[in-house]
Amino acid sequence: MNRRGFLLATPVLATGTLALSSTGQTAPLAIHGKTQLLPRRGKGPRIVVCGGGWGGMTAARYLRELIPQADVVLLERNPTFWSGPMSNKWLIDIVNTDFLNHDMLAPALKYGYTLVNTEVIGIERDTKTVRTSHGSIDYDYLILSGGIRNAYDAWFGNDVATAEYTRQHFPNAYVPNAEMLSLKHKVKAFKGGTIVMTLPPPPHRCPPSPYERACLIAWHIKTNKIPGKILILDPKPKIAPIGEGYRAAFEELYPDIIAHVPNAAIKEVDPYNKRIKTVAGDFDFDDAILMPPHQAADMVWYADLIGKTPDGKPTGWADMHPRLFTANSDENVYIVGDSMGFISDQFGHYPKSAHVANAIGQIVARNIAERVADKEVVPVLPDNLCYMMVNGDPQEEISVKFEYNLDATGKVLQTQIDMDVRTHDLVAEDFAWIKNRFNDFL
Ligand SMILES: Cc1cc2nc3c(=O)[nH]c(=O)nc-3n(C[C@H](O)[C@H](O)[C@H](O)COP(=O)(O)OP(=O)(O)OC[C@H]3O[C@@H](n4cnc5c(N)ncnc54)[C@H](O)[C@@H]3O)c2cc1C
Repeated sequence: MNRRGFLLATPVLATGTLALSSTGQTAPLAIHGKTQLLPRRGKGPRIVVCGGGWGGMTAARYLRELIPQADVVLLERNPTFWSGPMSNKWLIDIVNTDFLNHDMLAPALKYGYTLVNTEVIGIERDTKTVRTSHGSIDYDYLILSGGIRNAYDAWFGNDVATAEYTRQHFPNAYVPNAEMLSLKHKVKAFKGGTIVMTLPPPPHRCPPSPYERACLIAWHIKTNKIPGKILILDPKPKIAPIGEGYRAAFEELYPDIIAHVPNAAIKEVDPYNKRIKTVAGDFDFDDAILMPPHQAADMVWYADLIGKTPDGKPTGWADMHPRLFTANSDENVYIVGDSMGFISDQFGHYPKSAHVANAIGQIVARNIAERVADKEVVPVLPDNLCYMMVNGDPQEEISVKFEYNLDATGKVLQTQIDMDVRTHDLVAEDFAWIKNRFNDFL
């Protein structure tokens, strides 16, 4: 990044508009006219990346490396990077805040892209323009890597006051925002009673991680002799993935603390009276981590790129090519990370994981580089790997690996390998994994 880019990023930060967003999902803010956010740099293509998380930061780094003449601009609402992976361990102090929370300007300078801390508030594909809370920016190629949003409307319809009450009183900390610290403080302050955790229906962000969170909070409860219980309300018929490993951990390590309720699809949530009605029965709680269904980030909705079911309802996820990652209705827009939509009728979506977001960020950068160089685009498949801690002392983890291949018709096929036996070796692998991944884009 040149000196001008650095100076541009600094005053935006200084406005303080984008301290950790407290909402994580909102309707578009008031439109800030047509102020130009940044002049173009050089004669190469301009590639705007919306969302500086796992997928977006990876894409920005590789774009600059593979297309040195490109003007790469990363738009991110948060002033710093917060990692989802390891955040369950952070809740109970197995890793500290510096482990999760990272400077974003240093990678922008190191790799030579421009970081602007701003909120994406609209996308006009006909004029190839992104609107932000600080002005508008045009693009040749656009990457959307905004992660997920919490679809509270599935529970509360248009009752935004109840959605907001729920988010504030029972934060789930699945989006990098103010909920992270809020949940940590809640866990630390917990004195006893029943904590209910609702799991979203699939597909959702990092499928094994809510069970990891239950295990680690249970470990905290057990170690500190707190008279508490955790009730997991799971819409699925059984624990998945790594179901055997989690079942063994629940029964062997936390028999009096964790109870898993399968087939517990939510019928009604009453946050004021702390009561939930599910298909499997009704439950009262003292405290809760309430996860509504997940959907693609708002920016995919602004771009009007959400898929439709056969009866015309929104799928909630991007409508995109399963191997090229371009939007089906716009080949200049790419979707990266958790917002991605349907991939294959064998398994549905790629796991919504940091590992996949990082892999697709690289693949999409390569695909754009091939197009810019007028070369044939060679589709590449990702892989996936997730490590989950189930015991705090001794530290033990289980894991799941996914491999992808193509069948003769070009359909993507998935093979899932669960490592159900908890071991300390997997903890070492996990820490080596995240160190490697962070080194890739931070
Ligand atoms: C508790 C937990 C544990 C997890 N454990 C693992 C694990 O062990 N392994 C693993 O692989 N994955 C794990 N994950 C999943 C992982 O965090 C996500 O899959 C990954 O972050 C997806 O990357 P992304 O780029 O799609 O989204 P994110 O990393 O969330 O990045 C999206 C970015 O876009 C920004 N953004 C969104 N909207 C706007 C807007 N309108 N304007 C400006 N900026 C915007 C957000 O602030 C955010 O920084 C875990 C997640 C959680 C919550």
